[in-house]
Amino acid sequence: MPFFRLPVAAADGKGGLDYTGADAILLGVPYDGGTTYQPGARLAPYHVRRVSALVQGFHPVHGIDVFARLRCRDGGNLVFPPFNAGAVRELLQLEIARVLDAGAVPVIIGGDHSITLPVLRALFLKHGPLAVVHVDAHLDTSGPEVWGDAYHHGTPLRHALAEGLIAPGQLHQIGIRGGWGSATDGKIGQEHGARVYSMSDLDRIGISAAIRQICAEVENWPLYLTIDVDGLDPAFAPGTGTPVPGGLSSREVLRLVRALAGRRLCGCDVVEVCPALDHADLTSHLAAHLLYEALALLALRAP
Ligand code: MN
Ligand code: MN
Repeated sequence: MPFFRLPVAAADGKGGLDYTGADAILLGVPYDGGTTYQPGARLAPYHVRRVSALVQGFHPVHGIDVFARLRCRDGGNLVFPPFNAGAVRELLQLEIARVLDAGAVPVIIGGDHSITLPVLRALFLKHGPLAVVHVDAHLDTSGPEVWGDAYHHGTPLRHALAEGLIAPGQLHQIGIRGGWGSATDGKIGQEHGARVYSMSDLDRIGISAAIRQICAEVENWPLYLTIDVDGLDPAFAPGTGTPVPGGLSSREVLRLVRALAGRRLCGCDVVEVCPALDHADLTSHLAAHLLYEALALLALRAP
């Protein structure tokens, strides 16, 4: 069963898929070679696709039928050699470029968070510097000093900032908490003007103020939304490889995504769902609903 019982993108006769005529392409990226702790996110696309059959199309808050308004196709799962991380990045960037060339918006289910970097690279080449709203417990701006690898799942935002893929001051990180490797973990983000809404910041200013500020600041920038499900509290998203207590609730993240209505969403991913650690598919259901909410944002702007 495809994502949300939607049509599957047709074969292009050259071994790939034809994305022509689609407004949005759902793409699974079953890669978890970048995980530093418990692996398993590679299986998320299969489980999220399965439970997404339960999601219905009419969005009562936005007042639109998402799947009637948005021409959305399931683009299947990316195929790649699993033991070559560099090849995975290149193939994913190429596939996202193909989605963009067809005029569609990529909506992605990971995989671990390392998959976000090649997606941002492809989007940058199409749109220029981006605004990024990043839900996560972790800053994901680590370097090779952690585990001796520059491209694991704790590093995508560091590269995105260093490569200028994100406009100055347009990285908005929410849900951040837990211990750091050292006092300087926040330095890279600070140098690039990243806005960090840690859980202790949210205790002080409240989620509503944070959502208001984020929505005001991203303005009309081409916006990428990346949701690491460990940004949510493990009580809401138990199926993830690096859980940290004290996070966002499902309702808070749904509110955040809905509040981005009217902004220029040019791509989205939900990453770090680990079905083997999940209970009652809670995290897969959450991921399916977050993907649906992102599609609703696109449907609101569909012609
Ligand atoms: Mn994380
Ligand atoms: Mn992350």
